[in-house]
Amino acid sequence: MTRLLALVALAACGPRYEESSIGHMRLLSTDVRMQRDGHRALRVPVGVGASSFLATLQPTTPFVGHIRSLENSDGIQLYDAITETKSAFSSTNAGFLGPAASLNWPRHGRDAPLREGKWRLEIGVADTEGFYAQESARLDLLFKSDIDPTSGILRVALVFAGSTADDADLVEATREAVEHWRALYATAGIELDLTELEYPEGNLEPPGAGSDRHYLQIAEETGVGVINVVIVPAIVGVEDVYGIAGDIPGPLVPSIRTAVLVSAEEARGPDGRFDETELRIYGETLAHETGHLLGLFHPVETTLDVWDALDDTPQCSSNRSCESKMADNLMYPFPVCTLFTCVPQTTITDDQATAANLYVGVD
Ligand SMILES: [Zn+2]
Repeated sequence: MTRLLALVALAACGPRYEESSIGHMRLLSTDVRMQRDGHRALRVPVGVGASSFLATLQPTTPFVGHIRSLENSDGIQLYDAITETKSAFSSTNAGFLGPAASLNWPRHGRDAPLREGKWRLEIGVADTEGFYAQESARLDLLFKSDIDPTSGILRVALVFAGSTADDADLVEATREAVEHWRALYATAGIELDLTELEYPEGNLEPPGAGSDRHYLQIAEETGVGVINVVIVPAIVGVEDVYGIAGDIPGPLVPSIRTAVLVSAEEARGPDGRFDETELRIYGETLAHETGHLLGLFHPVETTLDVWDALDDTPQCSSNRSCESKMADNLMYPFPVCTLFTCVPQTTITDDQATAANLYVGVD
């Protein structure tokens, strides 16, 4: 009898969070062990004035995890991984199993806003074959209380990795490209608070796919709440890739996915020198890849059968119609070029701007 009572009491308590403040943000962290079925439901205490949270789940290596569901304080389910991962309209990658999984809420303007109370988040951990496992994971919940949801400041660490730091032409070109990026984000009400730093290792695989130690180290150095944009000589292990974002949305706590990687080799082109168009596309690439971390998907994927979930990025199903409607969109999956020039990709729609501003890192 006593034992049963003790169990009931434990179940009602939920996890014990470590709490800290990061600037204006509130961080709750806990280490949790999954139940036998590999799942675990947790209370999420949403405080007064909180406008968005970003949950990041990191299972013990080599396990993978995902965010299974989210309910508000009235017990209404707002998100579930099965619906999300089967949908042809993408809002978050949180439902897919990975070494880190992140859910920002709200994801976009159509999502129910945060409200004070006890929300419920269900998480899951699996082995690398996808079978649920009774393993442990770290869960970080980062909250912002944003009084102006139409504008904010994004903290960015521009990291020159390996030999890129000693390449004066590249550093100069990157600074010019950053000005293009700033101007683009200003149209969405987002101001960049950018610092530069150097990191000795430049041979990096895409974030989440290798070089784990380096991504953790970079993120530990730059701190919680900062987006890491890492410039490398070339991306190891993939060919002809200009930039890769760690996740959609990206984590803001140290993880192996807390970064965007951009290739200097692709940025400067085959002749090795930056011309005006290359500088502009470099800036657009920095803005595009970071856009993924802020929760933005391509308005249409190159397969032409998956779209973002936003209302004002039109649905299209052929290259011709997609390009005619959205070639100028910042989040179009690739630059649309003729023999002589490429269409500037400077459009951020209202719904894209709203989604980006809901991201916890834009405060
Ligand atoms: Zn992209």
